[in-house]
Amino acid sequence: MMDVKENYSLKKYNSFNIDVIAKEFIQINSIKELIDLQKNSKNKNKLFIGGGSNILFTNNFEGLVVHINLKGISVKKINENFSEIKVMSGENWNELVNWCIENNLGGLENLSLIPGNVGAAPIQNIGAYGVELKDVFISCEVYDLNTEKLTIYNLNDCKFGYRDSIFKKNKNLIVVSITMKLSSKNHKINSSYGGINDELKNLNIKEPTIKDISNVVCDIRNKKLPNPNKIGNAGSFFKNPIVNSKKINWLKENFNNIPFYKIDENSYKIPAAWLIETSGFKGKDFGNFGVHKTQPLVLVNYGKASGSDINKLSLSIKEVVNKLFKIELETEVNII
Ligand SMILES: Cc1cc2nc3c(=O)[nH]c(=O)nc-3n(C[C@H](O)[C@H](O)[C@H](O)COP(=O)(O)OP(=O)(O)OC[C@H]3O[C@@H](n4cnc5c(N)ncnc54)[C@H](O)[C@@H]3O)c2cc1C
Repeated sequence: MMDVKENYSLKKYNSFNIDVIAKEFIQINSIKELIDLQKNSKNKNKLFIGGGSNILFTNNFEGLVVHINLKGISVKKINENFSEIKVMSGENWNELVNWCIENNLGGLENLSLIPGNVGAAPIQNIGAYGVELKDVFISCEVYDLNTEKLTIYNLNDCKFGYRDSIFKKNKNLIVVSITMKLSSKNHKINSSYGGINDELKNLNIKEPTIKDISNVVCDIRNKKLPNPNKIGNAGSFFKNPIVNSKKINWLKENFNNIPFYKIDENSYKIPAAWLIETSGFKGKDFGNFGVHKTQPLVLVNYGKASGSDINKLSLSIKEVVNKLFKIELETEVNII
């Protein structure tokens, strides 16, 4: 018998620490439990969650919240240089990264310290410091709530993009496990992004190991981002917008110091943090909630905010940014 809890607080299940109630809550510990659950509750409104570090609850959830707690890691050697690693959805992402480094498996070190669980990693194709999940991804096993079947989604099936995938659009696809290709020899070190090289130079590290990269990434992140265990937040609230050449030219004419990165001939990425800061929101404190002091992309709950307080703040930011720059910011966080 599965243990369904009623009127259950989700405060511990979302990194914004929003105190909302799920009408029903269940933890799934095996694939069989997941299949049985769907058979017995086809018509229920369900929300599947991992660590809750990319969710903003704006209300009590009037349905069934399913916490995925599938555990397990297995490694298969492909050849001298590479191994295949299959990880169940309920494993903690950062613990997995550390485990890989301890076991001399390379590829995830730039993704150190990203909160949340493995099953959510493909949902927005998590990325940081020049690496995205798709760079090491082989496939994932998915349970389709519609067909009630387990299916394999290969790299191309997932339609990964910048903080995007097929799973963002199709909420019936529940990720059960993911399989990645990691190096076990001659690791490809990626240190060119976000100040990693500068930090390595400061430390006088000339030939960094995957452990060095992870340490440096953790140091940079700890300096820049608020720890959700201390201040409620869900990391970057907005995506960095991508604009075309016509738009970038207009922006350059009107804001001569606007930062941007060329992606290709007709697309340019603009740091949303700069847009928000220039719109006057950096460090704005509204008592129970606000915009973080040093990282304006991060909205924070100082303790007693409601999800709708934070949602309203995000809408005001969008409005001002749109007025000033004629750019529609897209949220990265899943608003429920
Ligand atoms: C301080 C901080 C820093 C962060 N930094 C980064 C960063 O550098 N890069 C980055 O990409 N993200 C970052 N994030 C966002 C977040 O950590 C990631 O998106 C992470 O993958 C979310 O995992 P989770 O288990 O907490 O997902 P949840 O918040 O539980 O869920 C997120 C979404 O995925 C869905 N979902 C969860 N599990 C499954 C599943 N098994 N199958 C189908 N759907 C599922 C949920 O319904 C929801 O829509 C950061 C967050 C915080 C708080």
